[in-house]
Amino acid sequence: MQQSTFADLGVSKAVASALRERGIERPFAVQELVVGDVLDGHDVLLESPTGSGKTLAFGIPLVDSVEPGRRAGRRPGEPGGLVLAPTRELASQIVDELDAIARARGLSIAAVYGGAGINPQIKAARRADVLVATPGRLVDLLDRGAVALGEVDVLVLDEADRMLDMGFRPVVDRLVALTPDDRQTLLFSATLAGEVDRIARAYTQDARRHAHRPPQEASGSVEHRFVKVSRERRTDQLVAELTEQERGRTLVFVRTKRGADRLAKQLGRVPTLTVAAMHGDKSQAQRERALAAFEAGRVDTLVATDVAARGIDVRDVTHVINFDAPAAVEDYVHRVGRTARAGADGVGITFVLDDQVRDVAAIGTRLGLQRELSAAGLGASEPAGARTSSQTGGRPRSRNRRRRSGRPRPAA
Ligand code: ADP
Ligand code: MG
Repeated sequence: MQQSTFADLGVSKAVASALRERGIERPFAVQELVVGDVLDGHDVLLESPTGSGKTLAFGIPLVDSVEPGRRAGRRPGEPGGLVLAPTRELASQIVDELDAIARARGLSIAAVYGGAGINPQIKAARRADVLVATPGRLVDLLDRGAVALGEVDVLVLDEADRMLDMGFRPVVDRLVALTPDDRQTLLFSATLAGEVDRIARAYTQDARRHAHRPPQEASGSVEHRFVKVSRERRTDQLVAELTEQERGRTLVFVRTKRGADRLAKQLGRVPTLTVAAMHGDKSQAQRERALAAFEAGRVDTLVATDVAARGIDVRDVTHVINFDAPAAVEDYVHRVGRTARAGADGVGITFVLDDQVRDVAAIGTRLGLQRELSAAGLGASEPAGARTSSQTGGRPRSRNRRRRSGRPRPAA
């Protein structure tokens, strides 16, 4: 499957390699939508649900656009990038997620939020090239003269809908007014309707507007389950799933044609199972026969590859089992979408080998299945790995990128 890389989107080598060290190799869909536009200097509005990867969608181009303060001639307390976020938790999460890539560019990033001592935050904020703040605490810092917003090149409003829900509109208006008119503005929200739309229009100019909705088929009445399993135990585990619980027709997905044949043969030896394989090397007649037997109930378990399964629309498939984990979100949705058709209930089970944990967790996260992942001990990806000296040693590269090229200067 051809997918873009961060380098294709124009991300610097320093940032791309810091991401790689954290196991982040490929952009998520929202990052593909947003990163290039931001690097080209556009204002951007993005509507997308939780877990779709918004933090890096703004964080990556943010750290690639902001210059280290000394080089840019900013004074202490003058951040070049400002991220507003509604809560303390979110602000510190953002810093955790962006710290490594910021440092790879020689940038300092800090969070300020209420409910914690202000003095250490003032110290960190005065050093910060990128400041992540809750609105109330940022006003405190401004009132004390600890920071100023006149050098903010890039302003991000994260979870704009929640900021409005929490009554921050007047404070945010006041903060935005303190930033330069020719700043670049990015606004992220689970929804861009109603009042969010109004502030989006007020704060941005000629913004590129993107909406990302992950496929809905995967949710609904399907129960999703992930099962960690070793390669040696995997077939036994499958037999257990197939024999120990009540089920109707079951589709088992494998990656290769050979794998499908081999597995169908192994399963065929289990007396209580009736099994057929379905893949691209079977003749049309063989495939039709297998499908007819599956529909008629003479075969209760069909072992299939992704391609062969595309056209299958059999009623009453109660279980889809990913013996080999799907490679991408789209594959997961197509596979598990074979069950729970026409309002029926279904179960989607995904086997996860040790070396698939990260990829499957990323897929599940994008589909909003965090709860199901943690139930299997596959929680969201771990925090930024060891912070090695190779990262801290990263030099800011010289910059000659077309910056803000797409942005018209505001009328005076
Ligand atoms: P959102 O803000 O849209 O709710 P987050 O930015 O918090 O989503 O991202 C959700 C999870 O996905 C985080 O654990 C994050 O580290 C992970 N993630 C984001 N982008 C990628 C990527 N390109 N590859 C792998 N994991 C990613
Ligand atoms: Mg977020």
